[in-house]
Amino acid sequence: MQHVVPGVWALRNVFVNLFYVRDPEAPAGPWALVDAGLPGSAPKVLDKAEFLFGEDNPPAAILLTHGHFDHIGALHTLVERWPDVPVYAHPLELPYLTGRSSYPPPDPSVGGGAMASLSFLYPKKPIDLGDRVKPLPEDGTVPGLPGWRWLATPGHSPGHVSFFRESDRTLLAGDAFVTTKQESAMAVWQQKQEVHGPPAYFTCDWEQARASVQALVALQPEVAATGHGIAMRGQELRDQLTQLAQHFDQAAKPAQGRYVPQPALADETGVIAVPPPVPNPLPNLLLGIGLVGIAAYVLASQDKPAPQRQK
Ligand SMILES: [Zn+2]
Ligand SMILES: [Zn+2]
Repeated sequence: MQHVVPGVWALRNVFVNLFYVRDPEAPAGPWALVDAGLPGSAPKVLDKAEFLFGEDNPPAAILLTHGHFDHIGALHTLVERWPDVPVYAHPLELPYLTGRSSYPPPDPSVGGGAMASLSFLYPKKPIDLGDRVKPLPEDGTVPGLPGWRWLATPGHSPGHVSFFRESDRTLLAGDAFVTTKQESAMAVWQQKQEVHGPPAYFTCDWEQARASVQALVALQPEVAATGHGIAMRGQELRDQLTQLAQHFDQAAKPAQGRYVPQPALADETGVIAVPPPVPNPLPNLLLGIGLVGIAAYVLASQDKPAPQRQK
């Protein structure tokens, strides 16, 4: 666990982060959980919650930046263990949290690394939290976290949000941008700190994603803790974030991909339309190896002289 700034702790779960947040001026006050990790992580999440806030001290709220599988994995167990704790997300994210719609399919043709190529294996069926999940308040306040506000940062997902604390300019940006190159398994393993665009394989609207990064630069954050990678801070953070916003199309947007020419369309009911798929490089590679194998077998068979029948 990493103490990011006073009142914010990050828990890394294999390759994704979730956050415990409390007002540093009110050490006995309420706290909230931001995102909910990978499936199977609930025991660890509960364990750290107890370590930080004491036994039988559930959060005031669970806040979701978005509902991708690696940010909601422990939710089912957590809502059972904390039966009175509400979950909040943006209204445009609710269809994927209430079983109404699947996300736009990930685009494994972008990003280039193993994490991206394997993304077609990631679960994308919606979970159903029923009435346990509620829309974030329209006025931008954050339930359970006075002093914070949320802002819509769509593009990586239709209803993606970020959370910002004005007093020390701390930003929890989810996957609107990240501080590691998430598409590459090597970079994820090394956890090199570097500002990158949103993980490309799930990003379904690149115009919105660019506008969201620009909105976050305008906040001039002092610290940014994102869904993937280690938190970054100060001038280094602001310089790299400014670079990303100014050169978003070259630095973050893939040259080609399913959602590059046109975005997925979604509303409060879920996905309305998606562009046609583009070929997945990994199955193509496997198919290629398979075809080469078959061709080699056929050629080898042809080279063999036909068996002579003994007379
Ligand atoms: Zn995501
Ligand atoms: Zn993520």
